Amino acid sequence: MPAGDPPLSLRDLDAIGVTRLRDVGRQRAASLTKMEIDSVLDLLQHYPRRYIDRTKQARIAELAEGEDVFVEGWVQRSSSRRIKPRRTLVEVVISDDTGRLKLTFFNQPWQEQSLRAGRQVVVHGRPKPYRGALQMTNPVVDLVGDRTGRFFPVYPQSEKANLSTWDIAKFVEQALNRCQPRGILDPVPSSMLRRFDFVGRHTALEGIHRPDTMAESYEARRRLKFDELLRVQLELVRRKRWLERHTAGLSHATGGELVDRFLARLPFQLTAAQQRVIGEVVGDLAQPYPMHRLMQGDVGAGKTVVALCALLTAVQGRFQGALMAPTEVLAEQHFATMLSLLGDLTVPDPARLGGERPLKVELLSGSRGAADRRRTHAGLAAGDVDIVVGTHALISEGLEYQNLGVVVIDEQHRFGVEQRAVLRDRGPGSVLPDLLVMTATPIPRTAAMTVYGDLDVSVLDELPEGRLPVATSWARGPLEEAQVWEAVRAAVSEGRQAYVVCPVIDESEVLEVRSVIETHERLTGGDGGLAGLRVGLLHGRLTPAEKDATMELFRAGALDVLVATTVIEVGVDVPNATVMVVVDAGRFGIAQLHQLRGRVGRSDIASSCYLVGEAVTADAEARLEAVVASTDGFELAEADLELRGEGTIMGERQKGRNDLRLASLRQDREWVAIARDVAIEMLDDDPDLHSHPALADEIELLLGDRDAEFLLKS
Ligand code: ADP
Ligand code: MG
Repeated sequence: MPAGDPPLSLRDLDAIGVTRLRDVGRQRAASLTKMEIDSVLDLLQHYPRRYIDRTKQARIAELAEGEDVFVEGWVQRSSSRRIKPRRTLVEVVISDDTGRLKLTFFNQPWQEQSLRAGRQVVVHGRPKPYRGALQMTNPVVDLVGDRTGRFFPVYPQSEKANLSTWDIAKFVEQALNRCQPRGILDPVPSSMLRRFDFVGRHTALEGIHRPDTMAESYEARRRLKFDELLRVQLELVRRKRWLERHTAGLSHATGGELVDRFLARLPFQLTAAQQRVIGEVVGDLAQPYPMHRLMQGDVGAGKTVVALCALLTAVQGRFQGALMAPTEVLAEQHFATMLSLLGDLTVPDPARLGGERPLKVELLSGSRGAADRRRTHAGLAAGDVDIVVGTHALISEGLEYQNLGVVVIDEQHRFGVEQRAVLRDRGPGSVLPDLLVMTATPIPRTAAMTVYGDLDVSVLDELPEGRLPVATSWARGPLEEAQVWEAVRAAVSEGRQAYVVCPVIDESEVLEVRSVIETHERLTGGDGGLAGLRVGLLHGRLTPAEKDATMELFRAGALDVLVATTVIEVGVDVPNATVMVVVDAGRFGIAQLHQLRGRVGRSDIASSCYLVGEAVTADAEARLEAVVASTDGFELAEADLELRGEGTIMGERQKGRNDLRLASLRQDREWVAIARDVAIEMLDDDPDLHSHPALADEIELLLGDRDAEFLLKS
């Protein structure tokens, strides 16, 4: 890399394989590959987890009890033994020039190998007295070498890769040295750097890997986080703009009478939020470019009505509408809800002047016979079917629509970007149908900006009037549990109904079904909590007909209690059910508990939700406490994000190509918003980033080909 050449771009760094570094032969390259490090770019983006300040390290002779410290030393000896059939104990002694310290590791048999005599280590932990001497139990260990400088970067290591943080540091150091002559290109305009007082990119990469002061590493992180967020936002905003400018959409005729007739028939008044969101959706539908809107609404906020307004707007202009649900059960439930809301609505019949025909809504489901499905396919191709409800089968190859105008996707808590892309192929000619995505999981604003940054967002932030908050309590022990069953019996004696939900067990349907059957038996048996009541059973192993029959009995009030798996999580709507009992509630996530709780409290009768069982982990405890403390979906979503981190939110959508290594949607909310504003500002001036080719290029490099493909497809 001779000087005089232009500074290195991220793409240049990506083109330099790690094997070009000294000491990286085939074996080490293979180890690095296991850590997903193949190029110098990967290496430079493998950021330290933390730093060790060498001046603050403790000497063994000066260790005090009960204080977290780190100690640098050399391994004297290590040994391991079995203490129980499945438990091993590894004992290690390290020393520095002031004394010796014993370390014990439970169930980490590999430590014996890793901490061979003579190796230099840094251990972090809390010394505690044991048999008259201080020792550390299960400390965090970093293998180091003979390094200099005040701060050690400590890199994420991987067990199977068998590379120490010291090995990685050496490679990084070499890579940085080799970048020195040419320098690393900074693609962000200098006016922007000045505005936010950012260091340059080269300085930032130096500062994060080998800082001289902690302030330097902090500034480096701040800058690099911004770059990550800016790239994501530029991509999302650009994608959205691009779709608006380059894709032909349908300009639906709005204000027709079909939607009005539908609304007039509803047995309730729309909430102000429903009116507002319907207005936003209808406004989009009238535009000549395709709608890309996300509707967020808490459980029970009444999203179905809004979705139906969108679908009926399409039908009114003789287009078709499709509603896609993530599972068959949900598709069936949506279908049932829609039928009941639509009643016997009719549409103008073009075949007979001034005539009317019934609105035709069909369910496309695996549980229906092949002949039935073929009929629906034919009806969609011929335009006889107005609205179709189904799963991803709705976008399967070979399914043709005569005139698909509006698509609603109910994502619940999944993010189906790929599905959305495919749907775009299903519009009439080269025109895209309008798209409304709905989610019952409220997503905190900044997270929504990133996960759904290519969509406009509407929020249904109001529940229908008269809904009482569901009183939620946690029954930890057997005594409290007995009271729960008393409460269920009391509600039943007042003519109400109850759900009892059992958890999914390790993704195993067999176990899950067994557990729900056992719970059913335990509760309905001689001295069970629900003995003598009419109790139904619902789980995934029943045939669709059996499920329907049970649901029907429950809806009709012929069953007092429904013991079920999470099949009832979403969409079930029985206003007379006022008690929700969640068995083994600690196994559920916050969003799921909130969804389940949303099955009750659907009328003006006070409802309650009981979370039963001990919390097995601290996290479970925090989840249950959060659900007891709040019935506000957005608040809970924030709590959830706090507990789980954003990995899970980004998870599905950005799997394998998540460019957010440093930035956290949770801790860096403020910067997410700033990056979005900056992205909008830059794209307003320069929609295709022509004057920022380096930035455009690294977005393409880092945000992946799949996105480019996605753009081309639409
Ligand atoms: P979501 O899908 O947002 O959880 P639904 O669309 O299933 O909510 O609506 C929940 C229940 O509230 C349904 O029984 C629905 O008919 C009813 N509902 C919807 N909007 C209103 C309203 N404005 N007033 C009273 N009830 C409503
Ligand atoms: Mg619903």
